Amino acid sequence: MDCLFCSIIKKEIPSDIIYEDDQVIAIKDINPQAPVHFLIIPKKHIKSLNEIEDTDLELVSHIVKLIPELARENKLNEGYRVVNNCGELGGQTVDHIHFHVLGKRQMLWPPG
Ligand code: AMP
Ligand code: ZN
Repeated sequence: MDCLFCSIIKKEIPSDIIYEDDQVIAIKDINPQAPVHFLIIPKKHIKSLNEIEDTDLELVSHIVKLIPELARENKLNEGYRVVNNCGELGGQTVDHIHFHVLGKRQMLWPPG
């Protein structure tokens, strides 16, 4: 299977890794939309939020707990935004689930 994020996880493609453990990797986004913009990516290939199963809930909790920890490490104490783009209308371009964390600028609402 040809998957960009699986290749990044296997280190076949270089990336700027800011965190890694046995379940996830977090990398700087190659096309940052804010002064701080990183992606939390599970090592397990899951296509999108729509494919999350009951057996993935421990992984989801792990990611949710990691978000404020990485936000703190990246000094996002004034706030930040977490984004999951799901499917075509959601704006998902890489079909391997990931969570964007953006910070260090004022976020706007509604999103584009
Ligand atoms: P999405 O559009 O939500 O699927 O997000 C995919 C994100 O991956 C985009 O923000 C891209 O800028 C980012 N991206 C694409 N290729 C790379 C790469 N090689 N390294 C880091 N981030 C990437
Ligand atoms: Zn993948």
